[in-house]
Amino acid sequence: MNRKKTLEDVQLRGKRALVRVDFNVPLDPNGNITDDTRIRATLPTINHILDNGGGVILMSHLGRPKGKPDKALSLAPVARRLSRLLKLPVRWMPDCVGEEVLKVAKELKPGEVILLENLRFHPGEKDNEAAFVRSLAGLADLYVDDAFATAHRAHASVVGVPAVLKPAVAGFLVQNEIEYFHRAMEEPVRPLVAILGGAKVSDKIKTITSLMDRVDKIIIGGGMAFTFLKSMGYRVGRSLVEDDMVDLATSILQQARSRALPLYLPVDCVAASAVDEKTKTMVVPTQEIPDDQMGLDIGPASITLFKEVIETARTIVWNGPMGVFELSPFSQGTFSIVDALARSNALTILGGGDTDVAVHATGNSDKIDYISTGGGAFLMLLEKGDLPGISALDDA
Ligand code: AMP
Repeated sequence: MNRKKTLEDVQLRGKRALVRVDFNVPLDPNGNITDDTRIRATLPTINHILDNGGGVILMSHLGRPKGKPDKALSLAPVARRLSRLLKLPVRWMPDCVGEEVLKVAKELKPGEVILLENLRFHPGEKDNEAAFVRSLAGLADLYVDDAFATAHRAHASVVGVPAVLKPAVAGFLVQNEIEYFHRAMEEPVRPLVAILGGAKVSDKIKTITSLMDRVDKIIIGGGMAFTFLKSMGYRVGRSLVEDDMVDLATSILQQARSRALPLYLPVDCVAASAVDEKTKTMVVPTQEIPDDQMGLDIGPASITLFKEVIETARTIVWNGPMGVFELSPFSQGTFSIVDALARSNALTILGGGDTDVAVHATGNSDKIDYISTGGGAFLMLLEKGDLPGISALDDA
């Protein structure tokens, strides 16, 4: 990936910056914001522009409104929360394009902040439609991308606008993501160990294949391990298996063997007959899961094995939990891996919605070097080494 221009490479005094942020925050049924982490994550970029004499026009999506206005997905509550966090007025606009928005944007003064209404109220956002792109691009003097979590989508505000509104630079959040990705995947201190978990092989198959070219060891846990175990002829009971992925799993294991790439799978698991907090559990070898049971977490021997592998690493990249960590009987595997990463001296980077939830649940997030703000974007970056929203930015 080429080095990208950042906020530090551009003149901001007297300029209006159109900043793509990710304000896709969780809302309760009354429309209250239940977690403002994503809003807080953009404060360094917003404050930097304001402190350097610029004005800020923020744009974001929220939820999936299907190309038409939906009151429940308005960004108005976000404007109020942002205003409190910035300790400044934030003017909310009831649309993201149109005459009124253009007028307000033209009159924007240094030090002022406006937030446009949900981009996805217009079909032009997802379709990257030329007229919609022009309307957005006409609002400002430069483009800033601070929305890593959407950088894998070829939407108007992600790829269309930076193609025409120049300069187009990375905000601090995106810059951080790029720098940690570079340290972990492009110039890693080796050995580099990848840990993959979560529910499905099919979601991550491309990432696994691509990682095989670049990492020194791979650990596979979580629900997706059972498709691999089944491909080895193991009896996996009622564990999560994607039958149409079994052949692919066989071929991945063969490739790993032929390249002498160590690939570790769980040797035991915590099994139960129901995905339930109060269910009776048993620890069994992964070769001998009873027919009526499913593997819902990695077992103690697997934890020991995976920890030993983690101890050999100088760089670790992790996506996806080791088990159904949301329920306490099946959380030990995931939490033990968090603990091993927290103790490790390696550079530790993780991403993917569920993985960061697990880390926050253990209170260990400050001991992980970097927690990516992207789920799908993090996986695609691991897979492809670049993202549409990043390659759309100006090279440094
Ligand atoms: P993903 O979004 O692919 O990272 O998957 C995360 C989900 O995988 C979590 O909600 C876990 O509960 C689930 N998961 C992890 N391990 C298992 C397993 N052994 N069986 C079923 N689901 C699992």
